[in-house]
Amino acid sequence: MKVANLNIEVGDRFSLNELREEFDRGSTNRGIEICYDEDDQKYVRLFSSETGPYNDNVRSGQFTYIGEGRTGDQELKGGNGVLAQSIEAPIPIYFFYKESTNTEWEYQGQAAVLDYERRLVPSEDREVYQFTLQRRTEGRERVDGDEQAVDLTRPERIESTRSRIVRNTQVSKSLKRRYSNTCQICGNRREQGDSQGYSEAHHLKPLGRPHGGPDTESNVIVLCPNHHADFDYGTISVAPTTLVIKHEHEQFVDGARLTIREDHELAEKFLQYHGEHIAVDSVNHQ
Ligand SMILES: [Zn+2]
Repeated sequence: MKVANLNIEVGDRFSLNELREEFDRGSTNRGIEICYDEDDQKYVRLFSSETGPYNDNVRSGQFTYIGEGRTGDQELKGGNGVLAQSIEAPIPIYFFYKESTNTEWEYQGQAAVLDYERRLVPSEDREVYQFTLQRRTEGRERVDGDEQAVDLTRPERIESTRSRIVRNTQVSKSLKRRYSNTCQICGNRREQGDSQGYSEAHHLKPLGRPHGGPDTESNVIVLCPNHHADFDYGTISVAPTTLVIKHEHEQFVDGARLTIREDHELAEKFLQYHGEHIAVDSVNHQ
């Protein structure tokens, strides 16, 4: 999937399966999903449901969205960090809303983050990040009563200014097949209706600018949708030589080792690159 070719319209409704087909990416149940398309264009799928968990106000053109983290003070990293960064460096943010009475997600268009603030929620005795977003309209939109040209990075513009990356899908397909669609982190296989299972290929050193990673087996691992998201968020990393997994929140994989088939020549340098450039905190690499 390339965001420039995404063909969804405001008002379209999607089941989670249909969303996966449209985006070529599984769901993680996160409100803020950081994703990359096959050209490695970063984008966000933003989900808000009427039943919470955060009571976001999404009824008007401009709306507020409470960041991720359901307990304790929220931090400006992961999805919250990406939303904050998008003010200076816009990326496509696809906004989906679900009413409590509905099982499908309604696409409400692209949104742009205008501002955010950290605020105390007295009833929960913790601090959260509250983002103010504006739904994007074609061409022009009103901001504070003045009509201003929309100066946001549109997928079309990203497409035209980015050097083309020819991706060899055979690399991903071959690896997924050899791993039988099982995750190299947790060993789980996401089952589909058919008997094939479902997995996702992750480039440790992302393709495209600014990273410029290669589309070779040495740079690709096979993951379940949840651990794919963790790699994108940087909440997981793998020590290059020992292959010991470090996970911020998940004890059952933290300290375990990455599974690698003998015929999969994964390069240490790409695990190292992920640990140094994408992982949330610096990891000790021996
Ligand atoms: Zn997994």
